[in-house]
Amino acid sequence: MPTWSNWAGNQQSRPTTIERPASESEVCAVIKRAVRSKQRVKVVGSGHSFTGIAVPDEVMIDLSRMNHVSYVDVSNGLITVEAGIVLSDLNAQLELHQLSMPNLGDVTYQTLAGALSTSTHGTGLYRTGLAAQIAAFRLVTAEGEILVCDARNNSEVFHCGRVSLGSLGVITEVTLRVVPAFNLRAVEQPMRIDHVLDNYSQLINDNDFFEFYWVPHTNWALTKANNVSLDAADSPSRFATWYNKMFLENYAFGVLCRVGRRFPKFIPKLATIIPSSGRVEYVNVSHRIFSSKRLVKFYEMEYSIALDALVPALREVMQMVEDRGFRISFPVEVRCTGSDDIPLSTSTGRRSAYIAVHMFKGSKYAEYFSAVETILRKYEGRPHWGKIHNLHSNEISSLYPEYQRFIEVRNQLDPEGVFTNDYLRRVLGR
Ligand SMILES: Cc1cc2nc3c(=O)[nH]c(=O)nc-3n(C[C@H](O)[C@H](O)[C@H](O)COP(=O)(O)OP(=O)(O)OC[C@H]3O[C@@H](n4cnc5c(N)ncnc54)[C@H](O)[C@@H]3O)c2cc1C
Repeated sequence: MPTWSNWAGNQQSRPTTIERPASESEVCAVIKRAVRSKQRVKVVGSGHSFTGIAVPDEVMIDLSRMNHVSYVDVSNGLITVEAGIVLSDLNAQLELHQLSMPNLGDVTYQTLAGALSTSTHGTGLYRTGLAAQIAAFRLVTAEGEILVCDARNNSEVFHCGRVSLGSLGVITEVTLRVVPAFNLRAVEQPMRIDHVLDNYSQLINDNDFFEFYWVPHTNWALTKANNVSLDAADSPSRFATWYNKMFLENYAFGVLCRVGRRFPKFIPKLATIIPSSGRVEYVNVSHRIFSSKRLVKFYEMEYSIALDALVPALREVMQMVEDRGFRISFPVEVRCTGSDDIPLSTSTGRRSAYIAVHMFKGSKYAEYFSAVETILRKYEGRPHWGKIHNLHSNEISSLYPEYQRFIEVRNQLDPEGVFTNDYLRRVLGR
């Protein structure tokens, strides 16, 4: 029997079969076959979710052969691609046409459909998560039927299905709204955490893309401010210097985490090394700035809260880490986005701040994550669908004004639960 595991190694399963369709008609055939033999189906992306959202119990579909660009409309800023394309390949294709995604998260290993399905986001008050860029998609349902979904056709499925948790069917193709390629000037520097929190509103308003990492056990934050720039990209050799530094820092950070996991009492002392990285500034094509390498494996939980709640919520988290005596080697990441109208988007109906906590792979994380979760739930926090959390459908339903609207679409498209698994039963009720 084949085995499957996610990137972090905390989710594993033994699907009965792995199917690798190369076309939409093959996807239809796989689903019809599975339904006839009364097996459930789960399409898996790059396995970069920490939750069990992508765990395949029976038939697993791997869409990596469906990774081609179907159509590019440069003048209208649209690209149509097969849904299994990995974000880094999508970025390379866009660059060839002088186009770009308006925003990205901090890595590009995910498949496009996987990233969209969990409401993946980056940072930037004037931008949204990735799913709000969808102009259309094609979906193969539990009946093996193909639906073309956009604002005019199957508009209710389109409205709800932009963030679907993989629960409505298999997305085979997506049309995205994209923008002309742009460069970013990145400035990374440590700042006092009090300065960042006292000036948070100004920092996110004055910069196109601002994020920071509070370093537990210190008064420091590592900040990243990326702004659209008309300047030319740095020479490849200058950028390579920065890239190699980042590469080395990943390794150095990995060593620090390993020492901390073995000797937790040294973590506060080790943490003081992290903010000593100094100020760096560079210009490059946007997707090379948005995303970086992640060589150190970890577990992660991330909650979105209303933007105005960020400062009090983070101060509570900081105080709690101190009071409870946790030893945390990973910085706490803070980002923000504008709002959108997608029923299960973590920023639906509100401008959002995101607080993400991490623990080095192999460390005990449950107590720390649950203490942070208790605080963020008071602020009506919504958990990232792909990152560890403990919420159930009865708690989640009250956090999303259009939750029931989504459930109705799911009831129509997948009444028998062909695409369900344990995680979806927990968060969607069946
Ligand atoms: C190192 C790392 C960095 C990360 N950085 C960020 C970040 O910056 N911002 C952020 O928001 N998140 C981030 N994440 C989380 C990640 O973006 C999401 O978990 C994303 O869903 C992973 O994409 P994937 O291709 O691995 O999908 P998977 O985890 O394999 O699947 C996710 C869901 O998508 C569904 N799915 C996949 N393909 C299809 C399809 N064709 N049709 C229908 N459903 C489908 C699956 O069934 C499943 O429900 C990060 C994760 C890691 C490990």
